[in-house]
Amino acid sequence: MELGFLKGIGPRRIQLLQQMGIESAEDLLCHFPRRYEDRTKLLNIAQLIPGEVNTLKAEITSVETQAIRRNLTLLKAVLRDSTGFAVATWFNQPFLQQKLHPGQWILLTGKVQIRFGNREILVQDYEMLTETAGEDLGRIVPVYPSVQGLNQNMFRMAIAQILESGLEIHEYLPEDFCQRHRLMGRQEALRSIHCPVSWEMLDQARRRLIFDEFFLLQLALGRMRSAAQQKQGIRHLGLEALTSDWLAGLPFRLTQAQNRVIEQVRTDMAAPHSMRRLIQGDVGSGKTVVAAWALLRAVETGHQSAMMAPTEILAKQHYDTLSSWFEPLGVRVALLKGSTPSAKKAEILEGLKAGTIQVAVGTHALFQETVVFKNLSLLVIDEQHRFGVRQRAMLEDKGITPDMLVMSATPIPRTLALTVYGDLDLSSLDEMPPGRKPVQTLCILDRARPKLNALLEREIGQGFQVYVVCPLIEETETADLQNAKQLFADLAAALPQVRIGLLHGRMAAADKEAVMAAFERGELQLLVSTTVIEVGVNVPKATVMVVENAERFGLAQLHQLRGRVGRGGDQSYCILVTKTTEPIPLKRLKLMTETNDGFRLAEEDMLLRGPGEFFGTRQHGLPEFRIAQLPADRRLLEEARGAALDLLQSDPNLQKPEHLSLNRLISQKVADMVKT
Ligand code: ADP
Ligand code: MG
Repeated sequence: MELGFLKGIGPRRIQLLQQMGIESAEDLLCHFPRRYEDRTKLLNIAQLIPGEVNTLKAEITSVETQAIRRNLTLLKAVLRDSTGFAVATWFNQPFLQQKLHPGQWILLTGKVQIRFGNREILVQDYEMLTETAGEDLGRIVPVYPSVQGLNQNMFRMAIAQILESGLEIHEYLPEDFCQRHRLMGRQEALRSIHCPVSWEMLDQARRRLIFDEFFLLQLALGRMRSAAQQKQGIRHLGLEALTSDWLAGLPFRLTQAQNRVIEQVRTDMAAPHSMRRLIQGDVGSGKTVVAAWALLRAVETGHQSAMMAPTEILAKQHYDTLSSWFEPLGVRVALLKGSTPSAKKAEILEGLKAGTIQVAVGTHALFQETVVFKNLSLLVIDEQHRFGVRQRAMLEDKGITPDMLVMSATPIPRTLALTVYGDLDLSSLDEMPPGRKPVQTLCILDRARPKLNALLEREIGQGFQVYVVCPLIEETETADLQNAKQLFADLAAALPQVRIGLLHGRMAAADKEAVMAAFERGELQLLVSTTVIEVGVNVPKATVMVVENAERFGLAQLHQLRGRVGRGGDQSYCILVTKTTEPIPLKRLKLMTETNDGFRLAEEDMLLRGPGEFFGTRQHGLPEFRIAQLPADRRLLEEARGAALDLLQSDPNLQKPEHLSLNRLISQKVADMVKT
């Protein structure tokens, strides 16, 4: 139904509604209230309670405007009912005077106070009453998200019209399913979310609608997962010659967790369907070893494999690690980046096409049109939290369906993992290699800098290395870049004996690499950097991580940064420097000093900042919900996920007659999700 059919909605309002993404009556019905006001308890004037927000019904006896000063006008109406008089006050809305007339009845909600012996109500919301009577006034009133030019009454009236118009509301869940999960019908839920007759009904309505959001998402993810699994994959079968040689040559023994996850990967890779697995593991838990095993396994079964990293620095580092492990075994590894010189690039492309290069490491450049593999069978994606469902589907669009192993060093709260990675199987590396000393974390104020410099001098004097990281939210923020340069200059002045380098996102790739390489070789002792080094970098001699303006980072990010030190056997330190005195940021920083548990930090970070902020970027792949809120609604998420999995188990392709409308809906949703 078009919006224009609704009474009270003209072209101007249609335009404003469209700006809010509301195009039709159906959209309006899914424009859910932001909150509700309790007008179930209608008071009379004598019953008003000073200090509380009350709702009352009264008659206007007079109205006047008072200009107090330039930016403040008060509109005051004297009200009466059979129990007495009160004053209603509106701030800065002088135009209302034309709407309020003596003799009219009005319903008001606002904070009550006593002024000059009179009861006064500071109006938050009001409604003109056409009739003086009406017992049904005591309602729970919805308050909608709105924009300038659209008022609450318009939303309330338009939605009431739609609900009364007999617009058909489609029920896509079978009746017995609703019963089993104690869900009210969809029609009733939509009615009750807008016009609840009681708080109890409102809870039921919310429950149903939130369930729907989660359930449909989980069904869609489930369908995507089974679609991937039904795809003919490559069976990696045969002797484990290379992999066992390589494992035997490692200077350490695998942890139990590494063994367990390798076993899961081995099974997936051997299976006829294609693998879609996420490995979660805290920084330093040894994910690279697992990835390397899988890459090598692909090679020993006669295929090619590839590893994709989010930055060139990381790609380079993986390349160094992997080639030092694999080249002695006669396996050729190549590094392909955006900045690879064209002659070299041509040579690599040739090798990949001919199959003479078995393992490719790179950034996104790996998947440009010109890159052709002879027989790629495994793709490892490192630090995947930067790619969502969509990006993965993009690879498949290119006709590439190798087994996929996704590595995430950001421990994601389970609730988020279920929504972002719901289409993947999960493995976790929940054990650290032995012999690591936990990093000591301190939070210091800016003025303790001389002490900090003394610590840096001491560590560097003992042959260790230091990172100093400053925030750079956008690579284009010149002010932040200025900060990094300033810090570099300050440190150079304070520590004249120390060889200091500067690394930031605006530098040319070759320069970045040169600086990073010098730091890895120990030529540079201190590295001032923006967050380019955030993920994955591995320099065992680095024992101090200083984070400037630490309050500007998320906990998960700080934990990542902290993971850059403590990678050798030596006691390491993470120093969070801040100027802030705000309680919440301080609380977050304090938490960092109390725990090294990445999962705990991830949960807390999500609670403190909300799931959207959690990833610190918009491209986190987290879907936006209309009504559900995480983490508050996480129980319902679990239930909906369970229900979705059960349903797919009993009817994998949603072919049963009672699932057909659900099927249609989900197909659309899957299509929307993979759309780029
Ligand atoms: P992350 O999970 O952060 O990617 P890495 O794979 O980079 O961790 O491993 C961190 C360090 O620990 C590396 O230097 C790696 O060689 C080492 N390492 C990995 N597994 C083990 C193990 N089982 N025992 C000892 N050291 C290990
Ligand atoms: Mg890593």
